[in-house]
Amino acid sequence: MSTPLATTGTSRTSSGSSPSSVLEADHRELVDAFESFLRKELVPLAAELPETVDMPPTELRDYVRTRSAQLGFYAGDYPEELGGSGMPFSAVVQLHHAAGRSGCPLAPYALAGSDGPSPLLRHGTPEQIAAYLVPLVRGEAVRCLALTEPHAGSDAFHLTTTAVRDEASGGWVLNGRKTFVSNADRADFAIVIASVEGAATAFVVDADNPGLRIGQRYDGMSGEPLFELLLDGARVAADAVIGGADGVGAAMGNGIDSLSRGRLVVAAMCNGIAEYALAQGIEYARERRAFGERIGAYQHVQEHLVTSRAEVEAAKLLTLACARLVDAGTEAPENAALAKLTSSETAVRVVDRALHVHGATGWVRGHPLEFLYRYVRMMTIIEGTSEIQKVIIARAMGLG
Ligand SMILES: Cc1cc2nc3c(=O)[nH]c(=O)nc-3n(C[C@H](O)[C@H](O)[C@H](O)COP(=O)(O)OP(=O)(O)OC[C@H]3O[C@@H](n4cnc5c(N)ncnc54)[C@H](O)[C@@H]3O)c2cc1C
Repeated sequence: MSTPLATTGTSRTSSGSSPSSVLEADHRELVDAFESFLRKELVPLAAELPETVDMPPTELRDYVRTRSAQLGFYAGDYPEELGGSGMPFSAVVQLHHAAGRSGCPLAPYALAGSDGPSPLLRHGTPEQIAAYLVPLVRGEAVRCLALTEPHAGSDAFHLTTTAVRDEASGGWVLNGRKTFVSNADRADFAIVIASVEGAATAFVVDADNPGLRIGQRYDGMSGEPLFELLLDGARVAADAVIGGADGVGAAMGNGIDSLSRGRLVVAAMCNGIAEYALAQGIEYARERRAFGERIGAYQHVQEHLVTSRAEVEAAKLLTLACARLVDAGTEAPENAALAKLTSSETAVRVVDRALHVHGATGWVRGHPLEFLYRYVRMMTIIEGTSEIQKVIIARAMGLG
């Protein structure tokens, strides 16, 4: 596993206060506490992992998740009655930023992601919230989301997985093929989006359902495996529809509520990763010498780092401002699309440039930038590709 830097809690990409520090001031204490947890508990654990292993073992990821939940960081924006800490969303965004900026490979598992509480479950019945959402918020359970199909990725409205009423039992029978599902191998249950007479509906399907099985495994660029999930006459009870009877046909409407939050969390993680990569690039350019001079003195090298600094700062400001709008209840989906588009594309470019400034040193397996170069590439695909963010923005501009 790549060796993380010890986190300092301060950005090493500028000599003074950056413009974004104005928006970061509100949650400084909380971020300091989280960074202290990373530095004292997770950085030493990460240092014990082999340098060339991309994905920490499941038991370690489980430990990080439950420990972070005990400390109140994991799923911190969920209310206390559901097991969370009731933090504002802008605080959660800053924690994701801090996780990315830490360079600690265990940090992403300390915060709720694709295996954590699904906002779809907030639309669940009280029984579903108690049985499925609360254990996720507490870090005691893991779930997966089965939405994508071989012929329905970005175009998630044309699903071929079906759910049909079983008149005898009053329940449902699910059939179909889902693909590229994260966490399917270790999830306690799957949230399956299936078509009920053409209307997308979210079902909870327990992992031990005899009609549900894992098919092909896909090994991604940075170690995280994805899976095919096959539903072959999977029978579920009537109360497996998230939201009960009102939930039939409500999956897309209920999911749309949460899209901005999901995209802003990805944007924040990207900004943190970009800030970490930039700090590495600056540090190396200050020390490495070529042709009798520090490479940072050459304008071609400065170009990589200064352009990155400007792009990271702009992406951060955009993301932090959008997170504030979420807390104010005035966030518009096109704003989160702007932030996700800007931050993910920026992070891919900045990590690439920082690696380049390191020459062969950054390209070698086991170097943190070599891992990040592969890890960050998924960010322009997940939570809607960059083109899909552009489609959303274009529509909001009255185009298309
Ligand atoms: C790391 C990772 C984790 C994932 N985890 C999950 C998961 O847990 N559950 C799940 O269900 N899915 C998951 N996915 C799948 C992910 O949601 C899809 O990959 C994503 O929605 C894109 O769909 P696709 O791969 O089918 O690409 P396609 O939709 O086929 O797109 C191919 C290309 O065409 C472009 N394109 C498509 N439509 C348009 C358009 N209208 N205008 C312009 N360009 C367009 C896209 O931007 C892309 O560049 C994961 C993917 C990755 C990489």
